Amino acid sequence: MTPEPPIYLDHNATTPVDARVLDAMLPYFRDVAANASSTHAPGRAAAEAVDAARRQVAELIHADPREVVFTSGATEANNLAIKGVVGWYGNRDDAPNYRGRHVVTASTEHTAVLDVCGRLVEQGCEVTYVDPAPTGVIEPATVADAVRDDTVLVSVMWVNNETGVINDIAAIAAAVRDRLGRHVLVHTDATQAVGRVPVDVAAAHVDLLSCSAHKLYGPKGVGALYVRRRDPRVRLTPLIDGGGHERGVRSGTLNVPGVVGFGAACALCAQTMRHDMARIADLRDRLEAALIARLGDDRVRVIAAEAPRVPNTANVAFAGVDADRLLRATPGIAASTGAACSAANWQGSHVLRRMGLDDAVARSAVRLSLGRDTTPHQITRSVELMTRTLATADVSTPACG
Ligand SMILES: *Cc1c(COP(=O)(O)O)cnc(C)c1O
Repeated sequence: MTPEPPIYLDHNATTPVDARVLDAMLPYFRDVAANASSTHAPGRAAAEAVDAARRQVAELIHADPREVVFTSGATEANNLAIKGVVGWYGNRDDAPNYRGRHVVTASTEHTAVLDVCGRLVEQGCEVTYVDPAPTGVIEPATVADAVRDDTVLVSVMWVNNETGVINDIAAIAAAVRDRLGRHVLVHTDATQAVGRVPVDVAAAHVDLLSCSAHKLYGPKGVGALYVRRRDPRVRLTPLIDGGGHERGVRSGTLNVPGVVGFGAACALCAQTMRHDMARIADLRDRLEAALIARLGDDRVRVIAAEAPRVPNTANVAFAGVDADRLLRATPGIAASTGAACSAANWQGSHVLRRMGLDDAVARSAVRLSLGRDTTPHQITRSVELMTRTLATADVSTPACG
């Protein structure tokens, strides 16, 4: 008997490329070789493909295509948004566009925001990290209270990658927007939201938004930053200078096949999101219910169950268990603990600890993230595999690394 491949329940880490996306990309590897900046006919063909993709990305988030800046992914988009705003509005105290050097963010952000903020602190900026409510939600009032005279930017993620908790970004933006007689810019890392829940930059009135193709069935290595053009027009200091591509904000020859794939992936999400997510929500609910039914609610705890969550994410804590050992002892499932287990004294996810959960609970939590390709059979089988490990292997705390 050939071993079955592991059941992939790590869609929040990355999604497989949809076959239809790959088909859309292939001609731009095989047939259209030109640089999208070249003015000859093949160059114009590449540029037209990029324009079409830009419209597809813009449409999914209700932006104007001119507000979409292609990047290498969400990490770069977050760097560009945060460092770019602080660079433009916080560089020199005597510059006419100077507003300050204070940034407000959440303690539960992805490292692609937290580490950017850490770098800014090294360079003399101040950052306030707001904590979530015990439900995992970042409350608009908490964010607004952290805004000061010298705040240039508020950055709060739309959906948390570990818990799936959805923050009310429209309410956060409204709470901070017109503080202190001026517009405080709002950025959101929406990498886990775009393609899964409706995202509308106009309705939410955010100023900057990051997203990534490989979290929505597109290729790795391409993403976008939405940059508001009016009401107000947002200015950024570029991170990468060169040929002035992407309206001068992000130089470098565009990854044409990647961009085309990103666009195709966005168009597919626009078509299938509602249907996919209803199906996936049903599977996720069944997964959680089955684990509780099999193991009992004294042994299984669904993290952030009281908060609004994206339909694909189940973060489940198993009492007395070390999540990393559980996953290692269950090779039939490819999932993650949400945070890299890097040291013997690993204390569990920063997100869960900031929600007020103690270290033992944080260390016992497994993130199971479902996707477009997840089947009912895989869910039943995953529950069997995990309950079997728990019944037969020693996966108790503590052991890590
Ligand atoms: C995956 C992810 C990122 C990083 O995106 P890349 O495109 O891989 O750089 C950033 N933020 C969140 C919330 C993510 O889930």
